Amino acid sequence: MQSSFLDIPVGHPFPLYNLPYGVFEYNGKTSVGVAIGDYVLDLTALEAKGLIKVKTLKGREIFSGQSLNAFLKTGKACWSEVREFLRHFLAADTSDLRDNAQLQKELLIPQSFITMKMPIEVSGYTDFYSSIEHATNIGKMFRDANNPLLPNWRHLPVGYDGRASAIVVSGTKIKRPHGQLKIGDNDPIYAPTRQFDTEVELGFIIGTGNDLGSPISIHSATDHVFGAVMLLDWSARDIQRWEYVPLGPFLGKNFGTTISPWIVTMEALAPFSVPGPVQDPRPLPYLLKDVENFNINLHLEIKTPKMDAYQEIARTNYKHMYWDIAQQVAHHTANGCNLQPGDVLGTGTISGPTPDSCGSLIELTWGGANPIKLISGEERVFLSDHDSMRVKGIASMGNLSIGFGYAEATVASAVLT
Ligand code: MN
Repeated sequence: MQSSFLDIPVGHPFPLYNLPYGVFEYNGKTSVGVAIGDYVLDLTALEAKGLIKVKTLKGREIFSGQSLNAFLKTGKACWSEVREFLRHFLAADTSDLRDNAQLQKELLIPQSFITMKMPIEVSGYTDFYSSIEHATNIGKMFRDANNPLLPNWRHLPVGYDGRASAIVVSGTKIKRPHGQLKIGDNDPIYAPTRQFDTEVELGFIIGTGNDLGSPISIHSATDHVFGAVMLLDWSARDIQRWEYVPLGPFLGKNFGTTISPWIVTMEALAPFSVPGPVQDPRPLPYLLKDVENFNINLHLEIKTPKMDAYQEIARTNYKHMYWDIAQQVAHHTANGCNLQPGDVLGTGTISGPTPDSCGSLIELTWGGANPIKLISGEERVFLSDHDSMRVKGIASMGNLSIGFGYAEATVASAVLT
């Protein structure tokens, strides 16, 4: 495995192999960059100096904006060529940067000096419901313990159109939402949610879209996907339970969704591919393929104001997913719906087969029956004001591992302004 001229310890989330993309602010200026070890390589500055040598670009500037969207639009061949160029530019044996201290100073910025921004302009947000363990748990709690999956579930990846405008970057506070709560047999009231939850998900970022009316084939679906981020889908369960019939999630879901700032590319994820479950019944031909997941360990952690450090409360893995990203893309466009560069496709809560591998508080506490015990002596069923949650993702296979970093947010109190 090629290594960088920079000293990056084994197990670091951002070795030369990873090269995730993000947008950052440094000295009041917003730039596009790629993470390498504890540094970010400033691609906006690199491009301005005319040092990005990539044939498919033919001199076009793609890193001069405030987001990665211009790069997303270039397509798979260009993403691959830029990745190859960057590996060459940063590798110990081929780097043009290694012996140029002045250029290093201009282009490599310590991550501790920067503020991460939203990496993309989000065009649209769709959230699926593709973990069979999650759908089964929720079905048992809300509907029918003996028959938890609805009849459509094994035939199509169930999803809903979410709210693009409410997706925010890690670190942004999420305010406890007000909404309609129906408690017992009483009339509904308008009040802050009492059941503030989050869902651990992956968010896939669409690179190139399709024309309205032209579905994307299952066989080329992943060519349209640029990469993935960690995603926390904040959920007000009491608002959700009252409002969701018959059209699905609305205000219980669209008051904030947190994504991690670094986008790990599909090319970097390729070696972590693992076969998914055999689907029974066999999906219709437009969805039929071998399910391909990735071995990504997901760690969900909580910290209350009384705690000095985060405490892990669940550990799950993306490899458990029933419907994969290609099937989600093919299904989303099967009616001709047009995906666009910068669309985010949430996988849905990622839960595993054991009680400690659930990706949401409502499942971890089984609807409140088993509160989570914290090292501070406190207990939680749902989130209190000023609690923080974060999820960390690490893809691993044999000796190779890469990280996503964190998606993290703190609950702000419900103040109407
Ligand atoms: Mn969700």
